[in-house]
Amino acid sequence: MSASIRVIRYNPCNQEKKKMKHIVIIGGGIAGMETASALTDAGHWVTVIEKEAQIGGKLNQWSYLFPDFMPADQIKSALQEKYHERDFSILHQSEVRSLHRHNGQFNIETSDEQQLKADAIVVATGYELFDARRKEEYGYKIYDHVITSADLEQLLLPDGDLTVAAGKEPKRIAFVHCVGSRDEKSGNHYCSKVCCITGVKQAIELKKRLPEAEIYCFYMDLRMYGKHFEELYREAQEKYDIQFIRGRLSEASEKIDKSLLIKAEDTLSGRPLKMNVDLLVLLIGMEAGKGTSAAAATCGIGCEESGFLKTADAFLKSNFSQQEGIFLAGSCTAPMSINDTILHARSAAMEVDHWLKSRCDNEKM
Ligand SMILES: Cc1cc2nc3c(=O)[nH]c(=O)nc-3n(C[C@H](O)[C@H](O)[C@H](O)COP(=O)(O)OP(=O)(O)OC[C@H]3O[C@@H](n4cnc5c(N)ncnc54)[C@H](O)[C@@H]3O)c2cc1C
Ligand code: SF4
Repeated sequence: MSASIRVIRYNPCNQEKKKMKHIVIIGGGIAGMETASALTDAGHWVTVIEKEAQIGGKLNQWSYLFPDFMPADQIKSALQEKYHERDFSILHQSEVRSLHRHNGQFNIETSDEQQLKADAIVVATGYELFDARRKEEYGYKIYDHVITSADLEQLLLPDGDLTVAAGKEPKRIAFVHCVGSRDEKSGNHYCSKVCCITGVKQAIELKKRLPEAEIYCFYMDLRMYGKHFEELYREAQEKYDIQFIRGRLSEASEKIDKSLLIKAEDTLSGRPLKMNVDLLVLLIGMEAGKGTSAAAATCGIGCEESGFLKTADAFLKSNFSQQEGIFLAGSCTAPMSINDTILHARSAAMEVDHWLKSRCDNEKM
């Protein structure tokens, strides 16, 4: 998503804005931008602090989206148009350096030395991709044709090059599920929720581009939790002949022709399995990451054991942190899809608006 969205610098002298409630949102991914948009519609003044030069977060890296293969560019343009129509400020390449509460307001200092006052904060710092080098046995960044699902998104763009050794198209491709999730060794016990369906989406996309290729997905369990996900999984098998093998890969090694020998156990038949493939795709998980832990430390809010931000409860207060006036939106709280992120962001905006209004009512009494 380009930075062509109107950028209004923080202007404390603007009299009209002085009368409005000011909300600072940390993180300008889909969660942050959607919360900003909804809060602006509710009549508030909003500033988004984004550490990168661009807003949009991970969406900027994806090609086609599950569940319906909508080009990511299409949703980016739709969101861009929506944000363009709204009047809120974005501080690019900026982070919160310090945050203090004084007389019911938050005083914020940013890394680019701006001083802001806010009535409420929303943390929307998203997630980071699991670093596949930590699973050394799969050979990421050691062997040429071991890539991650995030790398594959780039190759699936219309100008992406899918050829492997000697400029040939891959004839056999394997996907490995749960790389860096549900895994004792990497310390991530949780399920990253979106990688099973990402694997199905990418396997179908590959098959459309390389109809002759054989595609195998090695999984522990398949978790098709969302609307149309199960149907897509069936379609992958019935229409695209993608093979799903219940088995965990133990290792990959590179052969002289740069193809890969993978070893696994078929846990349904109980037999060990060896397979030669031209491309190995690691379905990497989501981690809370440094951006979220930095925001948690500055805001004084808690994290779960997984590193994702702790919500005040799991049912009715999934947008509340344990600090009054500090709210949470999107995948900084748990792995989630874009659809779920948008819904979580809108509910965060509603909770902030409600909280600000009830505070005003109490002040009047
Ligand atoms: C390989 C892969 C493919 C995927 N494909 C799909 C798909 O097809 N369909 C789908 O629905 N979902 C997909 N997803 C999930 C999707 O990426 C997430 O749902 C979405 O990105 C969550 O948005 P977010 O705003 O919560 O987080 P993010 O996209 O991570 O955005 C967070 C933003 O906060 C900023 N930030 C972080 N820390 C700070 C800080 N301290 N200060 C300031 N700014 C900060 C970051 O720079 C970033 O801009 C996929 C995920 C993966 C891993
Ligand atoms: S969504 Fe699938 S691949 Fe991802 S961690 Fe969960 S079970 Fe594993």
